[in-house]
Formats: sequence, C-alpha cells, structure tokens
Amino acid sequence: MSEDHQTQWDVAVVGGGVIGCSIAWRLAQGGLRVIVLDKSDFGSEASYAAGGMLAPLSEADQTGAFFDLCVASRAIYSDFARELLESSAIDIEYRTEGTLYLSLREEDDEELDRRWQWQQATGLNVKRLGAGCVRKLEPGITTALRWALKFPDDHQVNNRLLAAALFESARLSGVETRPHTEVHQLLTESVAGKERVTGLKTSRGLILADRLIIAAGSWSSQVTSSTASTLEVLPVRGQMVAFEMPVQPLSHVIYSRRGYLIPRNSGCVIAGSTTERTGFNKSVTAGGVADILNHAIEIMPSTRELAITETWAGLRPHAHDGLPVLGKDPQIDGLIYATAHYRNGILLTPITARAISELVLEGDSSINLSPFSISRRTLRLAEH
Ligand SMILES: Cc1cc2nc3c(=O)[nH]c(=O)nc-3n(C[C@H](O)[C@H](O)[C@H](O)COP(=O)(O)OP(=O)(O)OC[C@H]3O[C@@H](n4cnc5c(N)ncnc54)[C@H](O)[C@@H]3O)c2cc1C
Repeated sequence: MSEDHQTQWDVAVVGGGVIGCSIAWRLAQGGLRVIVLDKSDFGSEASYAAGGMLAPLSEADQTGAFFDLCVASRAIYSDFARELLESSAIDIEYRTEGTLYLSLREEDDEELDRRWQWQQATGLNVKRLGAGCVRKLEPGITTALRWALKFPDDHQVNNRLLAAALFESARLSGVETRPHTEVHQLLTESVAGKERVTGLKTSRGLILADRLIIAAGSWSSQVTSSTASTLEVLPVRGQMVAFEMPVQPLSHVIYSRRGYLIPRNSGCVIAGSTTERTGFNKSVTAGGVADILNHAIEIMPSTRELAITETWAGLRPHAHDGLPVLGKDPQIDGLIYATAHYRNGILLTPITARAISELVLEGDSSINLSPFSISRRTLRLAEH
C-alpha cells in the first residue's frame, strides 16, 4: 500500500500536460493541497509535440463561444508568460511578430478572401498585404506568392518551454508531482443518493482526494467511472518536422492552406502538420513527412536545402464537435473535466487554468462554460 493512502488531497489532477499543470499551479496558489499524476513524464505528450501557435484568427471563419474563449486566452498570454518567468525562471519565448497566411494558388483565394471579409467587417485586427510587401517582410517566401493576410495579434510560444515552466511553477508552489503513475480508475461513493469522488486507483496505489480533474488529453475517455457521464475524446495524430534555420531566418509564423512554418528562437524552423485518425499510434510515416516537406518547400523553396534535425508525432485530444470539454460532471460531485483542447490547447492553457481554478476555489467560473460542458456533449451524442 502506498503512503498516499493516508494522505487526503484537496485535488488530484490526472495528466501532467500543459492543461493539468496549469490548473494545479493555480489551485496551489489558491492554497489547496494538490497532486498531479502522469502515466509518463510530465509534458511529454501533445504538449511537447505542438507547434505553439496562439492563432485564434488565422483559422477562424466565425465568432461564437469557442472563438471568444480563444481570443480571451490570447489576451492574457503575455501576462501569463511574464508570471511564468517570475515563478519558474523559464522564458517560454512569447513572440509577437504575428502570423502571415499566404495565398499561393488561385484556389487559395476564396478561403482567405472569406476570412478577410468577415474579420475586417467584425473589426478584428487583420491586414491584407500584396506579395511585394510580404516578401519585404519575409524575403525567403516563394515568388509564387499571390497575396497574404497578416494577423498581427496571432502570436506564438515555445510549447516545450511552456510545459517545463508550468511543471516548475506548479512544483515550486507546492504541488506534489508523480510521473510514471498511471490512473486506472476513479473511485466514488454514494452519499444520500448522490455520487461523489473519493480518490483514484493508480499503478502505485490509492490516492484519496475530494476533487478530481481529468486533464489526460487523448486518453481522457479511459479514465472514468461507470457512473460518470460519457466522455468521448479521440486521438488525432499530427506529425512535425524540424530543420536547422537558414542564414536568412523567418520571423513570422507562416501559414498556407496546406501547412505551416514556425521559427524558433533556438535557430530552427518547425514545419507541420498532418491530421490523421490512427488511434494511439504516434509513428512518423514516410507519407506524413513527404506531405509536410512538400508544403514547406512550397512556402519557402530554400527549405529544400535545410538539414532535418528532428521528426515527431503527437496526439491531439478531439471531441466529436472539436470543442473542449470544461466543467463539472453533472452526475458525480467533485469530478471536473479539462480536456479535448484539440488543435488549441497551448492557446487555451491560461484561460482553462483560470476557468477551472475558479470553479474549484469559488464554486463558479467567471467564464461561461456551458457551451463546453460534458452535458451538452452527452445530449448531442444521444441525438445522433
Ligand atoms: C502536432 C501538433 C501540433 C499542435 N499545435 C498546436 C498549436 O500550434 N497551438 C495550440 O494551441 N495547440 C496545438 N496543438 C494542440 C495541443 O498540443 C494540445 O491541445 C494540448 O497540448 C493538450 O494538452 P493536455 O495537457 O490536455 O494534453 P497532453 O499534453 O497530451 O497531456 C495529457 C497527459 O495525460 C497523461 N495521461 C494520460 N492518461 C493518463 C492516465 N491514465 N494516468 C495518468 N496520466 C495520464 C499523459 O501521459 C499526458 O502527459 C498541437 C498538437 C499537436 C499534436
């Protein structure tokens, strides 16, 4: 029996990616006794594999609750980065050059034009640039460029440093961190006809806790209880390739409809990505890399000459409608979800940490979480 069997935690968090660690950090700052468990090393899954783009406008075709959540998170990112630097001494390389979205073929025009029309009509910060102007900003971009959109406020961070900074901040705030501890089952009891959480069964014994937060990314559906609401989160693989940076470096994040390039402070550029339903398989494939390379070369022809320094793949946690699942389980007291952030988990980290910590510390959140509740998901699943 583990020594933890005797310890009563206020909160146990399942999953030590950016979502689990950021919530744990905020809860420890609020004075709670918090433990985070990860089946592997902390921050070694999607949070490690990501690109780190904070780009709500670049891919958005409409406003709505999800768009608002993304924009709200982006708005607090620079303060979040500063606070992380103060608490962990790790600089997450928050960069503000912005994002360029290129039209490289005639067929690209329609999507970019549509995005430009609604975003500038809504008063969002988007600019339309001619090819000459873009190539002055980024001389390495292909001469086949037709025109581009610039999203000055769509920034980026180094997600690997973000994961490290959150882990360190959580640890220094008093959070107990347990790597290589797999959660097998949620434990509950029935009190006056209502279920409530009591703890977790793990590969290293029992953990007793008053509240449980499911932040297990693509594996979240596997961490459940027979009485909890149905949580459907599936993995979507994304492959990535990193190159040694050219003499003439990029400064912006560069998108096309088929791929993207992200410059890093370290002097490398990251190219992505694929979107594949291959279960929990994280292989890097010849086809995946070939597609990424073709799209990278289309954007910046000199990529052809660059040395590949790393390839990897990660699993984006995806719910059936692509929205995150945030908030309380309606059936079980003390059970809270913070998962299914899909393509935007790095962007959504600060706002998720704020929303979920408010829910735990104050009983309610200043952010309306009803569009992201698990009940909306169960209802929709039942409807189809
Ligand atoms: C290729 C790629 C590119 C991306 N690019 C971006 C981007 O540019 N911008 C952006 O905002 N987002 C991006 N994302 C999405 C982002 O990475 C994710 O949404 C985010 O990292 C999710 O964080 P998480 O903490 O929920 O999940 P994860 O980082 O996957 O962490 C979940 C953790 O739970 C642990 N775990 C699972 N099951 C158990 C268990 N039973 N017991 C204990 N621990 C368990 C895992 O080991 C893991 O460490 C990208 C993702 C990928 C794959």
